[in-house]
Order: sequence, then C-alpha cells, then structure tokens
Amino acid sequence: MLYAGFYGMKRGLVWLRNDLRLKDNLPLYNAAHDCDEVFPVYVLDPRLFRQLNVGFRKTGPYKTRFLLEALHDLDKKLKQVGSGLIFRQGNPENIIPELAKEWNVQVVYTSKETGTEEQNVENVLERELTGHRIMLEKYWQHTLFHEEDVPWPIRQVPEVFTSFRKESEKMVDVRPEVPEPASLKTPQHIMYGAIPEFSELGLEEEKSDKRSVIEFKGGETAAWERLNYYFWQEDLLKNYKFTRNNLLGGDYSSKLSPWLSLGCISPRSVYFEIKRYEEERKKNVSTYWLFFELLWRDFFRYMSKKHGAAIFRYEGFNGSPPDYNEDHEKFDAWRHGETGEPFVDANMKELLLTGYMSNRGRQNAASYLMYDLGVKWTWGAAWFENRLIDYDPSSNWLNWAYIAGVGNDPRQGRQFSIESQSAKYDPKGEYTGLWLERDAIS
Ligand SMILES: Cc1cc2nc3c(=O)[nH]c(=O)nc-3n(C[C@H](O)[C@H](O)[C@H](O)COP(=O)(O)OP(=O)(O)OC[C@H]3O[C@@H](n4cnc5c(N)ncnc54)[C@H](O)[C@@H]3O)c2cc1C
Repeated sequence: MLYAGFYGMKRGLVWLRNDLRLKDNLPLYNAAHDCDEVFPVYVLDPRLFRQLNVGFRKTGPYKTRFLLEALHDLDKKLKQVGSGLIFRQGNPENIIPELAKEWNVQVVYTSKETGTEEQNVENVLERELTGHRIMLEKYWQHTLFHEEDVPWPIRQVPEVFTSFRKESEKMVDVRPEVPEPASLKTPQHIMYGAIPEFSELGLEEEKSDKRSVIEFKGGETAAWERLNYYFWQEDLLKNYKFTRNNLLGGDYSSKLSPWLSLGCISPRSVYFEIKRYEEERKKNVSTYWLFFELLWRDFFRYMSKKHGAAIFRYEGFNGSPPDYNEDHEKFDAWRHGETGEPFVDANMKELLLTGYMSNRGRQNAASYLMYDLGVKWTWGAAWFENRLIDYDPSSNWLNWAYIAGVGNDPRQGRQFSIESQSAKYDPKGEYTGLWLERDAIS
C-alpha cells in the first residue's frame, strides 16, 4: 500500500478553499473514498483583510459575512455525514503542514487555484509537505470544462472569447459531477476550532439595506435554494436572455455568482441542472445563454492561468491602457456614488450598500471611472474586490482589463456612453430613483 501510514491506517487532510460544499467536491470525495480517516480543514488567511495602499482593505464586509455563513453551513453538512469543519486562522502554507504532521496524515487533498497569490501559497505548501514526505493532490474544479479536456495547452488558449467558446463547446464535454460523500470518519478528540464572529475580524459593519436585489446567505444550502427558486419554482430561466440586462429586483438574472465564487455550488452542478431543465421544462435560447455566460467565467479562469500576475497590472497583457490620474477626490466620489452622474451614482450606491451590482452597472461604472474621470482602472478593480459579495479574482480583474483595453477585448477597450446606456436600460429612471431619491437603510 502506497500510503500505508500510522498503524497501517490511511489518513487524509482536505484543505477546503473556494470549494465550500459537499456535492461535486473532488478533493473531499476522493479523500472519503481513499482514506480511513479524513480531516476537513478551512484556514482563514489574515492576508485577505490586509490594508491596501489605496486606503481600504482587500476584502470588505459583504464577502466576509457571506464566507462565515458558508463555513457554518459547511460545518453543519459535514456533521451530518459524521465529521465537522476544522477551523483555523493563519497562513495556510504553515498551518496545513503543521496539522498534517500532528495528525500523521499521508495525503493532503485540495483544489487548484489560478490567482497568483493563491498559487504562491500552494507552491510554498507543496514544498513544505514534500519536505515531510506528505503528498499533495490538487484537483482542477472551478470551471465547466476541465483543464485536461480543453483542446489547447495553457499557452495557446485563444485570447478571444468567441474562439474559445466555439472550439471548446464543440470539442469538450462537461465531466459528470461526483456525489456527496455518504460518510466521513474524523477522529473526535481533535480540536475543531470555532468559526469567528464577524465582529471579531475588525471589519467595518456592513449595511443592511432592504433595497438589496435578494438576501444573499452564504452556504451550499442557500445556493441550492436560489437555484431551485430561479429554475424550478419561478421558472425564470426560460426568459433569462431577455431579462439579464435589467437592473431592478431579484429575478432578472440568476444571482448565483456569490455562491459560485466560494464554490458553494459547482459550475458543473449548475450546468447539469440547466440540462435537466431543458429536458423537463423547456430548451431555448435562454437556457443556452446561462451556459454561455458560465463560459465567460471559464474563459477568464483560463486567461488568469495563462497570464498570471499580468492580469492585476495597469498595463495588463495586451494593448495599451488609457491615460490615468491618481486623483483621490474623484476616486472617493465614485466609490461613494457622489460623482453627480446619476446612473453611475445609483450603481455605486447599490454596491456600497449591498455588495452587489448588475453586470450592466459594473460595465458602466468601470468605464466611467477610467474614461470619464480618468482615474487609474486598477484602483476601481481593487474597490470592487473589497465590495463585491461575488468577488472572484479572474472574473473581476479580467472584466476590468477588458474594458480598459489591456485584456481580451479584440476592440482593445470600450468606453460606454453613460447617457445612452441609462436611456436604454433605465428609461423611466426607476433604478436611479430607487438608489438616489430614497434613503432606505433599515
Ligand atoms: C467590471 C466587472 C467586474 C466583475 N467582477 C466580477 C466578480 O468579481 N465576480 C463575478 O462572479 N463576476 C464578476 N463580473 C461578471 C458579472 O457582472 C457577474 O458575474 C454577474 O453580474 C453576477 O450576477 P448573476 O449571477 O446574476 O449573473 P448571471 O447573468 O445570472 O450569469 C450567470 C453566471 O455567469 C457568470 N458570468 C456572467 N457574466 C460574466 C462575466 N462578464 N464574466 C465572468 N463571469 C460571468 C457568473 O458566474 C454568473 O453568476 C464582473 C463584471 C464586470 C463588468
């Protein structure tokens, strides 16, 4: 037996990252299958909350609250299969090897990430583990299409979304999901550690605003509730293509992004639910379109792997960036929804007060900051990182780089006309009115 360890028993540690779920979780599934005892661990990395030079923290209150809720839900679900979530705070590359040594673990199972900070952590961890003769098994599981199934080596993944989509959807099948582990055995004597209260993390208290598009609650349970609502209960999927650019209310788009970003649900699970919906209810351009949007997510994930640290740089990896200033007054006015441009201000208030903003709003707000105010686009991307409840490194930074013309836009950047966009998408001023004319903080 390759891993026969302590008393001939095989022990696995599952380092949970942005894969906070039981269903379709390959590291957890394989550990449950291969090992006699499994230790599911989450490590809250304090570097997530570090202060940035632009004057705020890297991660803000909405995503943090959502993460804590997701961890509680995960703990509950793990308890139902005989285990529980082991929680620690600190640098994962130090803590995971320490725990693995303490518990005589032979294999650490985890998900692969593509962001540079995440990969650096992974690399240091791997070196540490190798030094102690502990194996690291890493699984690719954040996309619909598996990295081994796409028809290109990473260096040759097309730079243009349409080429990526056309070739990959023709040639690649989405791999089947893996089920939840039926049971997990974790020794009871270990110290599980308590998930902190939000107030212990020293962040500003987030606002609670009743105008929020929906009430976002972290966790796998709530992810499936949202999917069931959108697909099955309210049958909203069948019109998605025609509603997705709206701005008001919970129903115009899936709102699955926060759960996808922390892996409370896998993109594959969403895909197979779309397929089931097509069989049982309706197959049309809207059902295809949700899949199409998920392919954008895949595309940016592959681009972040291909371009590494360049996706976070002002110069990006293609084209040339717009001229910029570092005007803090303009930037702060934009952040707080006080530029005097109502459509942008309404969107920025929604973000500030709820952690969410529609795709249309994000495009306009980003364009306005870099082209109308001339402020450095990377500052705006950092503010989105702090505020967005669905923040995801590749989707955020590569959408910004796209608009700035230093990423994957074949037109090399696009300035949105705020006037015509607001006339088209908010013709009666209802959206602007909702955010600028009433003060609805509950
Ligand atoms: C400047 C800017 C920053 C963004 N930052 C993020 C981010 O940090 N995290 C994030 O998940 N999305 C980001 N997006 C993409 C998009 O705005 C959100 O995914 C979407 O608004 C989330 O709402 P939804 O789940 O209802 O989307 P839906 O319209 O229901 O789409 C379904 C899913 O498809 C994916 N998707 C849709 N559009 C995009 C896109 N343009 N790029 C990548 N994936 C997409 C998302 O996973 C989304 O949940 C950003 C877009 C812009 C223009």
